[in-house]
Amino acid sequence: MFECELINRCGFFAKYQESKDLACRGFMSLYCRGPQQADCKRLQYRAEHGVPPDDDMLPTGQKMAGSGS
Ligand code: SF4
Repeated sequence: MFECELINRCGFFAKYQESKDLACRGFMSLYCRGPQQADCKRLQYRAEHGVPPDDDMLPTGQKMAGSGS
């Protein structure tokens, strides 16, 4: 198992790691702890902008549904 190097600093992971939402958990196993890590849009955003994206931005680049903002 390999984890994203940002797993301890990622706002999305911090906010949703305890989530029971299946889609959310799926993203974490695919991206944060899985084979699609290199495709994470959050990583790309951080690399491009030099700052982390909103906590509610998913690894796919979409916004978390129902985040209320
Ligand atoms: S969402 Fe992306 S940046 Fe955050 S821990 Fe997962 S793979 Fe890493």
